[in-house]
Amino acid sequence: MRKPIIAGNWKLHKNITEAKELVEKLKNDLTGIDDVDIVVCPCFTALWEVAKTLSGSNIASGAQNMFWEPKGAFTGEISASQIKDTGATYVIIGHSERRQYFGETNETVNKKIKAALAEGLTPIVCVGEVLAEREEGRMQEVLKVQVTESLAGLTKEEMVKCVIAYEPVWAIGTGKTATPDQAQDVHQYIRSLIGDMFDKSVSDSIRIQYGGSVKPSNVSELMAKDSIDGALVGGASLEADSFVQLVKYEK
Ligand code: PEP
Repeated sequence: MRKPIIAGNWKLHKNITEAKELVEKLKNDLTGIDDVDIVVCPCFTALWEVAKTLSGSNIASGAQNMFWEPKGAFTGEISASQIKDTGATYVIIGHSERRQYFGETNETVNKKIKAALAEGLTPIVCVGEVLAEREEGRMQEVLKVQVTESLAGLTKEEMVKCVIAYEPVWAIGTGKTATPDQAQDVHQYIRSLIGDMFDKSVSDSIRIQYGGSVKPSNVSELMAKDSIDGALVGGASLEADSFVQLVKYEK
């Protein structure tokens, strides 16, 4: 049985004070929940404060990006060990906004995943098609390239430590959600790709989150699908009330 994982991607929102305020509320309202893995991903400047505030709680923290090199002349970058040093244990890798605005490719995603795993961080690896690719019937082809290139060269032991987030780009921040059936179909497809690359025990155990306008009103129907193991949430993770409702979704 795969344990659900719900993660909040705060993107470029919240200063340190606001971030601390939000996690204090989450810590309080989500006490004792142990049937869902809960993760929040603030921006780098708030990460240490958030990780410190959540230390010893049932909520983990993660970064939204990282660089693959451990150190050196890479102005503006943050390494996996620096993320780990804050107390964070997760890192989102290959979010579509990084692919779209910051030149992230499957090759850089692959390097980042390997560097994150080497430091003991759990990568949340994002894949997903844009609307035109879906409408042109190229969705499977696009996902196959993203999955195979992003996860190339991982061992089975490394692969099972990763979380995959399927995020159709047309559903991110748009209010348009893939229907539970659409998401389930794609999750099964991604699982089959992972099965082909590794083996069935790996594809059976890997957790695949859905991301794209997940809200308290639609989380339960998505989570009811057997191949959907959680959610990566942007907008609805920015307020305590909505994130708490998401984590406490009706089962
Ligand atoms: C995201 O940022 O990964 C995301 C899915 O955003 P939203 O929930 O706002 O669509």
